[in-house]
Amino acid sequence: MATLLSRMSRAFGLERVSDVSTASPTPAGSPVSTLFDADPRSALKHHFGFDAFRPLQEEIVADVLAGRDVFALLPTGGGKSLTFQLPAVMAPGLTVVVSPLIALMKDQVDGMTAAGIAATFLNSTLDADEARKRLRGLHEGAYRLLYLAPERLALSHVTNDLRAWNVVRFAIDEAHCISEWGHDFRPEYRRLSELRKSFPGVPILALTATATDRVRDDIVSSLGLRDPQCYVASFNRPNLTYRVSPKGDTFRQLATFVRARKKESGIVYASSRRQVETLAEKLRDAGIAALPYHAGLENAERAYNQERFVRDDARVICATVAFGMGINKSNVRYVVHYDLPKNLESYYQETGRAGRDGLAAECVLFFSPADAAKQLGFLDEKEPRERALGLEGLRTMQHYAETDACRRVTLLAHFGETFAMEDCGGCDNCLAPRARFDGTIVAQKFLSTVVRVRQAGGFSVGLNHLVDVLVGRETEKVRDWHHDALSTFGIGKGTARPQWLAIGRELVRLGLLRQTPGLRSVIELTESGRRTLLERTSVHLTAAAPAMATSRSERVHDDIACDESLFEELRTLRKSLADERDVPAYVIFPDTTLRAMARDVPRGADELRRIAGVGDRKLADYGDAFLAAIARYEGARREPATPRA
Ligand code: ADP
Ligand code: ZN
Repeated sequence: MATLLSRMSRAFGLERVSDVSTASPTPAGSPVSTLFDADPRSALKHHFGFDAFRPLQEEIVADVLAGRDVFALLPTGGGKSLTFQLPAVMAPGLTVVVSPLIALMKDQVDGMTAAGIAATFLNSTLDADEARKRLRGLHEGAYRLLYLAPERLALSHVTNDLRAWNVVRFAIDEAHCISEWGHDFRPEYRRLSELRKSFPGVPILALTATATDRVRDDIVSSLGLRDPQCYVASFNRPNLTYRVSPKGDTFRQLATFVRARKKESGIVYASSRRQVETLAEKLRDAGIAALPYHAGLENAERAYNQERFVRDDARVICATVAFGMGINKSNVRYVVHYDLPKNLESYYQETGRAGRDGLAAECVLFFSPADAAKQLGFLDEKEPRERALGLEGLRTMQHYAETDACRRVTLLAHFGETFAMEDCGGCDNCLAPRARFDGTIVAQKFLSTVVRVRQAGGFSVGLNHLVDVLVGRETEKVRDWHHDALSTFGIGKGTARPQWLAIGRELVRLGLLRQTPGLRSVIELTESGRRTLLERTSVHLTAAAPAMATSRSERVHDDIACDESLFEELRTLRKSLADERDVPAYVIFPDTTLRAMARDVPRGADELRRIAGVGDRKLADYGDAFLAAIARYEGARREPATPRA
């Protein structure tokens, strides 16, 4: 190995500073695994233990290996990292990965190291000795991957170093951070536009999970990508189940939900720091290991809480939206929103943190129209432009929460994607379609109120005012505009205000009414509403959603069915191995791999290697421990039967 690397270094005109073996790029001087498989599939199994590519991975890897510029938009959990990690181990040269978060770099490098791949990072957290050791390794060509923060690339000595290190490609992770149009703009990322000038011959791979067309164009032009191959994967996450539950004794619902998932990790998002603190405390009082996470905590405490969660010491993290980006934890089994997210993009991103390992995971939104009203209030203080955007976002979010159509279809439609299946099998509305009732009379009342108001003053009004007229509330405006004289004033007295508001929104969804966009949004009758009114067509409305069943939802996309108590044993073993090595558990093996072991019960190394997630390096490092645990378990299970024999 050392000789091959040193030959390479010489070939690139490098001076040998010291022996590679003393640079110790991999732990305990272990050898870097065989380099340069020609076939991506065997490399995939050998290094990562995976048997198949996820959608688009194979195509991206091929283009990257061919030296093309590539732009790839893959959802969270789509397996973006592999698209630069695999090429990095398949051909000579150094892959430089730009990543915005220091914590994430360390996790990724730990993961690579556990798989026997020589990777490292340079950032401000390293002491001088450690940094020197790593630089020496880099000079000697001992690493396949180097993770860097974007600000480092701006330093001239770093650019010079990179020139000497035979960089064969740049991978820009979270590439949307370069765009001011995105939600995550980071000024440091702007400097990446220098890359192409400083390294004109080095191909660039840009990766992101969030990008509108505008952000995508911005990424391509800012990085100066040349005739890039663009890949856009479907944003459907088939293993996620989406549900909405009306608020009402919400904490009890939450506690029951969490208790029913004893061993699983989850995130509970709330809108304010205070709410986050309260929830974490109340969950702890209820005997659940929960920790808070928000920007108001001291850095050290925040990092500590995150670490406890990532390492499965705390099962639940209650967090504001400050939590999430850079969380690599693959076995988050549920994401609960205790409050309404500000728009559907955020909701998609936040729920996306569930089920990255591909196993079933749940997304639950607790919703009350009052939450939407509260957020509307906050928007009042904003600038007009920001307010209009906020309103639009809120409306799409509320639509998602209230629709009786498929949640998945609604979510994907928001990203311009058509989901063709009739029944997605993974949302509350598809799993248990809501009851409908004959709403012809209430619809007539509502629609005629819209008409009367319009006739009376020659102008249309907003939803709230219409409902005031329906229930006969004598507000200042009602009196000013003489709406108390309308024949429909008070004809809806028998029904409560919130219900009327919901009916109004449903009539909008049905297309009988139209809500104008913008700040002073008003409700107008559509052509189809006019016909419904004239022809007394019957209208079916949906009954209010029932409170969510807190039992586990039906698992449509089968988990790996396995021997649960063996899985628990293996999980315990994994935890102790991880703690010994001071890494998160998933760095050893993901849950999917443990479940497959507990299903297939491998007897020897050959059988173990067949399991997805068991690469050659991990087989060598952990194979014996896991095989022994399985054998022990099997032996203990068979024992009670022996007296009969
Ligand atoms: P992203 O960055 O796109 O959110 P990651 O790169 O973190 O996704 O990958 C998500 C998870 O999927 C990781 O646990 C990773 O090991 C796993 N993974 C990636 N590619 C494959 C594959 N081809 N087969 C099985 N698991 C994979
Ligand atoms: Zn559905």
